[in-house]
Amino acid sequence: MTGQMMYEQLSVNSLIDHAARFHGATEVVSVETTGEVARSTWGEVSANARRLASALDRLGVSPGARVGTIAWNNRRHLEIYFGVAAGGRVTHTMNPRLTPEQVAYIANHAGDEVLMFDATFLPLVAPIRAHLDSVQHFVLLGARDEAAATKLDGLLFYDELLETGDPDHAWPEIDERAAAAMCYTSGTTGNPKGVQYSHRAIVLHSIGGNQPDGLALSARDTVMPVVPMFHVNAWGVPYIAAQAGCRLVLPGPKLDGESLARLIDAEGVTISLGVPTIWMGLLAGLEKTGATAASMTRTVVGGSALPPSMIPAFRDKYGVDLVHAWGMTETSPLGTLNQLLQKHEDLSEEEQAKIRLGQGRPPWGVDLRIVDEDGQVLPHDGETQGALQIRGHWIVEGYYGQSGNALTEDGWFDTGDVATIDADGYMIIRDRSKDIIKSGGEWISTVELENIAIAHPAIANAAAIAAVHPKWDQRPVLIAVRAAEAEISEDELIGFYDGKVASWQVPDRVVFVDELPLGATGKVLKNRLRESFGEILLESA
Ligand code: ADP
Repeated sequence: MTGQMMYEQLSVNSLIDHAARFHGATEVVSVETTGEVARSTWGEVSANARRLASALDRLGVSPGARVGTIAWNNRRHLEIYFGVAAGGRVTHTMNPRLTPEQVAYIANHAGDEVLMFDATFLPLVAPIRAHLDSVQHFVLLGARDEAAATKLDGLLFYDELLETGDPDHAWPEIDERAAAAMCYTSGTTGNPKGVQYSHRAIVLHSIGGNQPDGLALSARDTVMPVVPMFHVNAWGVPYIAAQAGCRLVLPGPKLDGESLARLIDAEGVTISLGVPTIWMGLLAGLEKTGATAASMTRTVVGGSALPPSMIPAFRDKYGVDLVHAWGMTETSPLGTLNQLLQKHEDLSEEEQAKIRLGQGRPPWGVDLRIVDEDGQVLPHDGETQGALQIRGHWIVEGYYGQSGNALTEDGWFDTGDVATIDADGYMIIRDRSKDIIKSGGEWISTVELENIAIAHPAIANAAAIAAVHPKWDQRPVLIAVRAAEAEISEDELIGFYDGKVASWQVPDRVVFVDELPLGATGKVLKNRLRESFGEILLESA
């Protein structure tokens, strides 16, 4: 017997419709590319999303077309998120920090029919126009701008385009398995690959990721996603905010600590989300501006490992809880979030902080396991390390334009991370499988070596890499950046590891550099470091 409940498609349309109907007057604050603060509401976002969908129909943009965006976190980008997807097309966000060649590669690979971009990115788009084979319409996100119009033939302007649209436009029927959004992996470990998020996956990710032990965004929150809308859908925050009816603050182009600190105080932000480097900047910005961040209760940190010193820095001075999360482009991205269990409540703050430094446990909707090199499932004992694999409602099955699926024979996605999982499901990333150091058959965690170095006051940043070694196959070498005006020698830093790790795990060498090479999402490019320093131990041998 089937159940007797109504059946409705799980669609992005339902998210924006809910926001418009029940949170229509709730504010969406947006720092525009010009720096001006624009105020709108979920009701206006919804009306503009409908206008956009109908304007794209009138332009003749095909159903299911990919609409590329290169834009900051702002209100027009938010309208595109909903207008494109709910209108039966696919929002394809692109990272402006990629090189022009990479942007062209990705737009062509995705077959984008339309490209919408902030004025900031006209100098990126105009020169590669001739190489964008599939793009038929270029749309600048703003009002008509004659100077811009001379730089790109046939340039359309978003605000004018909207005027041709209908605010009461009816959404088409949506099949929940259809793609709603698309994002390419940042390609730190190979060519960028396209991940297409279905309507269904986005809705289930919003529900599963926003449980009380997850992001826990509510209609009482003012949420500021600093994580870019071009990086894995800003971790799903635009969709979740629509579903929960949050007040949104979209910070625009200026993501330095001082600008963020001022915005938090001015708008009463209660929760923000972003990568650790942003919060390092914010801490400095708070100090400098004297902003108190009194309204902030928590900050979600992910994308790379949380430096241990950050939890007490936010907690003790500003009363802000850091929630560590892990995920990737292929996982929508929320894979784990770190909240405590009831049994942890009596632990001291320091003991709790230790647990919260890990990447956390999976929400309902995803399952995790670790396996050895032969694919044998390993125990969840908190000590055994293995390749981290994941499955669930919002995990990638296959990449865009590639035949076959991207899964193991028994249907799991291999993350490329090396992790431990304990009996309560708390996962800790120990490394990426391509970065791990295997010395004499034993694994050494680069994350651990880096955390120790970064905790030294004279060190601003550090990356541990595997260097080829004639006897041990590989040995750790640390590439470090000294803090401004600090002095520290190689021997002093090596000595700092004494007693903190087993002696065979201490780096053989430290190389000081002015800066670490970073990829488009702000992650250290270790392959580049391995190219430069991977044979340094052979030279000295
Ligand atoms: P790419 O894989 O191309 O670098 P992603 O943005 O998808 O791009 O990055 C996902 C990877 O980032 C994960 O596989 C993991 O290695 C790393 N990562 C994400 N969050 C964390 C975290 N909280 N701690 C440590 N590493 C993380």
